[in-house]
Amino acid sequence: MFEVRCKDVGFDCPGVVRGMTKEAVAQQAAAHAVEVHGAVVTPALAATVMAAIQNGESHGLDASHGSSAPRGNDHGG
Ligand SMILES: [Zn+2]
Repeated sequence: MFEVRCKDVGFDCPGVVRGMTKEAVAQQAAAHAVEVHGAVVTPALAATVMAAIQNGESHGLDASHGSSAPRGNDHGG
């Protein structure tokens, strides 16, 4: 899950756009900027949006846990 805050893009707006991919967030943020703020999506603005997108997974999830459980060789034959 990714997200971008509208104010991080340069607008005085509390809006937050979320999506499963950076591309989806960028598209929705661009649409939001056009519809709500009457902005024009220039390559520079698109780059700013992409740079402002951050990974929304800020919970205590550690994806890499290196605990190797001892497994017995239990393939019966
Ligand atoms: Zn906004």
